Amino acid sequence: MVKAVVGANWGDEGKGKITDMLAQEADIVIRFQGGANAGHTIVNNYGKFALHTLPSGVFYSHVTNIIGNGVALNVPRLFQEIKELTDRSVPSPHIMISDRAQLVMPYHILLDTYEEARLAGKSFGSTKSGIAPFYSDKFAKIGFQVSELFDEDLLQEKVLRVCELKNVLLEHLYHQDPIRPEELLETLHEYRRMVEPYVGNVSAFLDAAIKEGKNILLEGQLGTMKDPDHGIYPMVTSSSTLAAYGAIGAGLPPYEIKKIIAVTKAYSSAVGAGAFVSEIFGEEADELRRRGGDGGEYGATTGRPRRMGWYDCVASRYGCRLQAATDVALTVLDVLGYLDEIPVCTGYEIDGQVTTEFPVTWKLEKAKPVLTVLPGWKCDIRGIRSYDELPENCRKYIEFIEAQIGYPVTMISNGPGREDIIYRQSSLS
Ligand code: GDP
Repeated sequence: MVKAVVGANWGDEGKGKITDMLAQEADIVIRFQGGANAGHTIVNNYGKFALHTLPSGVFYSHVTNIIGNGVALNVPRLFQEIKELTDRSVPSPHIMISDRAQLVMPYHILLDTYEEARLAGKSFGSTKSGIAPFYSDKFAKIGFQVSELFDEDLLQEKVLRVCELKNVLLEHLYHQDPIRPEELLETLHEYRRMVEPYVGNVSAFLDAAIKEGKNILLEGQLGTMKDPDHGIYPMVTSSSTLAAYGAIGAGLPPYEIKKIIAVTKAYSSAVGAGAFVSEIFGEEADELRRRGGDGGEYGATTGRPRRMGWYDCVASRYGCRLQAATDVALTVLDVLGYLDEIPVCTGYEIDGQVTTEFPVTWKLEKAKPVLTVLPGWKCDIRGIRSYDELPENCRKYIEFIEAQIGYPVTMISNGPGREDIIYRQSSLS
């Protein structure tokens, strides 16, 4: 059985926690897109960890953790992350790297950084991890596939060809030092030594695993709003964040993905620029940011303070629809226990008209939130394990959101730990 855990919002919904929890019963966990530009925060019996490239199954020794072909693989970062785990007594995880994954090159990171500086105030809020230059090169067919590290003649020829191109940009657009091909080749030899023990034919491995009835988890990064096609273009990431892309970015049949768990947070947060309709500001936002997540809403990769907002039913309904959610996991609900009243965004007013359909970006920029205010429950719900034991107003909040988004909320997360989860039978299932 193949399941996907994906984000229904802007990312940071708590996918890492849900994946870590579901990985207990998984044989294989796969990252199928994105790179080290975002992070999953996981709290378990080993401590608190921020994963960027590693799949969230790395804390279980029975799980094979796969870096799929759709991922932007930053080799030094991957090995640094593995070391951070083993340094803190996590057993060495089982890792497999797709021979069709491509490499984030040192010049991708440089070009990302220089381009952000060149754009100055008009930048896209890149994390400068090289992700946009990486995917541009992949589709311009000048990327380096992991498999190519093992063909020395091809590698030498390609390094020369690519340096020629990149050096024009580096020298003439950004006025920086050129890349030296021999240095780059040496770096790639080092990458080859590092990845060699882990490289494999992932789609063949998954084909056999599916036939053997193994449990496979696809782990998405970011969320629907950051998808390059269906998100808030151009304030998006450079690879598809949708469950459907899991089939491509891992190399398995689309019809094998039987369960799609769309993760949505009980309030909203976003990083980077772009329209964010239910955003709140000032002390109201500061307080939610301070209390949010597990130790505050600050980027797992960048440490940047996240932008905060009320729950957005318009964005989440659209987010779940594009993910094709079979299940919704509503996370971080415990954080809202301090509020007397909780506003929820139920519509967008655009040019005097109210809509509940998530619009294209230029219309989104004009949208004002239509809010419905629900009563709070004013208590700590951590530790509760059954739905019926939740305070009535808390259940009403969940049921209101479920009715608005139209997808079944079957999991409620009320704390950062693996065991902080309430399963629920939804009438929409
Ligand atoms: P991801 O990228 O989607 O995995 O999300 P992040 O890891 O960036 O953000 C989620 C944050 O919320 C992390 O700090 C988690 O430990 C924390 N978290 C996840 N679920 C819950 C929850 O139900 N309650 C609380 N308080 N924190 C949670």
